[in-house]
Amino acid sequence: MFDIIIIGAGIIGTQMAYTLSLTSLSVLVLEKNAEILNEVSSSNSGIIHTGYDPDEHTLKAKLNVRGAYLYRELCAKLEVPLMECGSMIVAHNEKEIQKLLALKVKADRRSIPCKMLNQNELRLEEPHIADSVIQALLFPTTAAILPWQMGYALIDNACQNGVQLHTSEPVLKVERGSCFTVTTQKQSYQAKMVINCSGLNGDKVARLEDPDYPIHLLYKRGEYQVTDKSDASYINHILFPLPTDHGKGVLAVKTVEGNLLFGPNNHLVDDPYDGSCTIEGLNEIDAKIGEVIKPLPKSRMIRQFAGVRPSSPTNDFIIEDHNHWINVIGIDSPGLASSPAIAEYVYETFVKPVFNPIMIDREVYIHPKPLSEMSIDHRNQLVKKNPSYGQIVCLCEDVSLQEVIDAIHSPAQTKSVKGIKRRTRPGSGRCQGGFCEAKIVELLSKELNIPRQEVLYDNDQTQFLIPMEDLYEKK
Ligand SMILES: Cc1cc2nc3c(=O)[nH]c(=O)nc-3n(C[C@H](O)[C@H](O)[C@H](O)COP(=O)(O)OP(=O)(O)OC[C@H]3O[C@@H](n4cnc5c(N)ncnc54)[C@H](O)[C@@H]3O)c2cc1C
Repeated sequence: MFDIIIIGAGIIGTQMAYTLSLTSLSVLVLEKNAEILNEVSSSNSGIIHTGYDPDEHTLKAKLNVRGAYLYRELCAKLEVPLMECGSMIVAHNEKEIQKLLALKVKADRRSIPCKMLNQNELRLEEPHIADSVIQALLFPTTAAILPWQMGYALIDNACQNGVQLHTSEPVLKVERGSCFTVTTQKQSYQAKMVINCSGLNGDKVARLEDPDYPIHLLYKRGEYQVTDKSDASYINHILFPLPTDHGKGVLAVKTVEGNLLFGPNNHLVDDPYDGSCTIEGLNEIDAKIGEVIKPLPKSRMIRQFAGVRPSSPTNDFIIEDHNHWINVIGIDSPGLASSPAIAEYVYETFVKPVFNPIMIDREVYIHPKPLSEMSIDHRNQLVKKNPSYGQIVCLCEDVSLQEVIDAIHSPAQTKSVKGIKRRTRPGSGRCQGGFCEAKIVELLSKELNIPRQEVLYDNDQTQFLIPMEDLYEKK
């Protein structure tokens, strides 16, 4: 019997797992995919918004402002890079300037630092801003993270602290008796409390516990274009158009790794797992980004991707207790920025009053620093101790064999090609895996002691090596 089962290992589930791992509670995380952080939490802009945008008196407003504050502490403690690049919202005419001023009043009320910039000031800060921009509102404390870097740091620490993580185990059935019995295709588990952090499946998982659960989530897809890292210095801040009722608009985003993201748009889709990019959507981004910056040539885009937001019909996060079944669902933007505060809120409001657990001072697990960021001297010392640090498997991103092995054997383990890509970057560079993917498959096979054909790309059933005999059979 566990004290708590967490369903879903996205950024909300991993924040929850980490928070609970600092207590005496016994915790199990059940994740349906083979790789964690592989749904909404890996397909977003990575922005730690300051909290100026959400409507007054919403959970979004309260938890975004608190989350942005907590990120500083958390990133420092777990040594996760937080890029404090600041952001600007741009205005093109007098009407938009009035809207910027109204946003400034809202931000001042929430004690969020911001400042109006005139033409000269904003062009000094952003030489490639669109010619049509005439004023901007600067938010110096907007930051960016790599969401999966934070998620892996959280889950590695949680697992080191005793949390159990079971991947490839979708929750299929829930029964409520004197405790909860939660059943996956592999096993049944019992717990005194369940926290439902299942993202795009949030309402469906809620209906496993209460078939009459009335809320139906809406799915809003956002597409992106990604540039190469060579364009990193094209912008200095994250650049937003004015927010509307349809969201924050198409942005130019600086990422921690140096790639730029242009997007996302915002379209309702029926299928929560429809993460496809469309010609129309990408053309829409090309057209809209020109209102913010002077567009880059299309040849600079190395990839496109899309994420789907699990939005609630009330336009606020749904965080509620049904007699020890806690729903944490409808977590669309700014869910990433709010996530440490969401975990804190759930703990303080629902977990602590029931269990009153002991807080435990745990040792922190810090991810090894990438070799590519080390001084030559430091790197040479490592190579001397272990020559596998000198054997490069990914030429684009300068990743060594031993870094991949370390990632596979991290406390939460990594069992997929995509997990390795997210943890250590092979496959993220210009060749997009063309040169290194086969080596990563080989390494996973060797380190996990499984045949190459069983190595997964990310989810179950994503083996990408087909035995020759199967190929001939299919013909
Ligand atoms: C295009 C886009 C841009 C965004 N930009 C930002 C931004 O810049 N800043 C910001 O703050 N927020 C942003 N967001 C919002 C943010 O990404 C989300 O709020 C956050 O990632 C939600 O995390 P989650 O853990 O709830 O969901 P997820 O990451 O989807 O995690 C849910 C997990 O539950 C698992 N699961 C589902 N069903 C089951 C089951 N039956 N059994 C077991 N496991 C299950 C899934 O596999 C998944 O791993 C953006 C979102 C999108 C789509």
